[in-house]
Amino acid sequence: MSVGQASSWFVAFIIIERILLRKKGKAPPINDSITSMACGLFMEINHIAFRGAQTAAYVYIYENYRLHELPWDSLWTWLACAVGMDLGYYWAHRATHEVNLFWSQHQVHHSSEEYNLTTALRQGVWQGWSTMFYYLPMAFFIPPSQFFVHSQFNLLFQFWIHTEVIDDLGPLEWVLNTPSHHRVHHGSTRYCVDKNYAGVLIIWDRMFGTFEAERRDEPLVYGLIEQVDSFNPFYLEFFYLRKVFEKMQSMSTITDKLKAIFYGPGWVPGSPKLGHYDQLPETIVREKFSHSLTPHDQIYATIHFLLLSEGYRVLVTQYEEYDGWLLYGCCAYIIVSLVSIGLLFNRNSWFPWIEMIRCLVFLAYQLHFKIFLTETIGMNLLMNGIRLFYLYSALQCKIECVRQFRDIMQKDKIK
Ligand SMILES: [Zn+2]
Ligand SMILES: [Zn+2]
Repeated sequence: MSVGQASSWFVAFIIIERILLRKKGKAPPINDSITSMACGLFMEINHIAFRGAQTAAYVYIYENYRLHELPWDSLWTWLACAVGMDLGYYWAHRATHEVNLFWSQHQVHHSSEEYNLTTALRQGVWQGWSTMFYYLPMAFFIPPSQFFVHSQFNLLFQFWIHTEVIDDLGPLEWVLNTPSHHRVHHGSTRYCVDKNYAGVLIIWDRMFGTFEAERRDEPLVYGLIEQVDSFNPFYLEFFYLRKVFEKMQSMSTITDKLKAIFYGPGWVPGSPKLGHYDQLPETIVREKFSHSLTPHDQIYATIHFLLLSEGYRVLVTQYEEYDGWLLYGCCAYIIVSLVSIGLLFNRNSWFPWIEMIRCLVFLAYQLHFKIFLTETIGMNLLMNGIRLFYLYSALQCKIECVRQFRDIMQKDKIK
């Protein structure tokens, strides 16, 4: 089962977790949850656009430079691959925290101030390009089929550990990466920073000195040390890259410029490679970033997000039939739509303009390709309902755009 195929299971578990948290009065805010899932969808779209580019490197090395051919159907190969994959994950993950450029791609996974199953889906779009090198040594021995199955298993395992619903798992805490261990990894206070990089086995952190147990007497504060206030997935994915560039530009020597890119995010001239841990905050007190949403906005954003997810599912099952431009156009459309939902959550004044245009584009696409009649009456009714919802969305945004325009004219008159 791949990550894509598991998405309906993800949704089922996310709903169950939400019901359990709601009973405790701790239901996570919908804006944060949708943003996390939007980042996951963004990453999946990236996989479509660059299909095969990363896996091709592995296959190329295996085909041309393998040192030994392990039998693909042996239990020992299976175990070696599982352990090798997990060790590779540990070092790849550690690198994304200890190299500023790589952190720019991974920080998005840590940018949520909540901690629940949706946080697992909040992934960096470009991260695969920097971490793939840590797995390539396996290509000298492990057949590609085994490698790809285990890479999916490793990712799937990490879904369930993003929860506060599961507390302590007794003796399993010694060997496995558990929700408790991974909660520490997502904490932003001093004792949590750069700890518990494990994927499946926590033994790597115990062996390499990066393990830290959860402290019951210190409440965890999730998110980045310098939290970013945005629900725009595009901004979350790329804002830190600009920070890396600015840090590099602010350095006066070539050596320091390189260190600004390849040393840790906390490095400053004169400090150790990873910065001064003892200067990190021991406690953090801050309000979570959020704008209150009306029930209308919550339902509106949820329906549009579900429609986009379904649109992506259809695209991914049929993308080989699409010609290049149409495929990239559909990918871009979904990304712009995810950004638009983020702007709604951010209360950004550009929201009604972008939203109106994207809803009209959807309706125009339907008209242009004459997607009016489908096979069944039920499907036709559903599609017409969706079209009406898009029409309603566009009209509602048009009203908001006119109101904004009037406000601007009014202000100009007062001046
Ligand atoms: Zn991390
Ligand atoms: Zn995580």
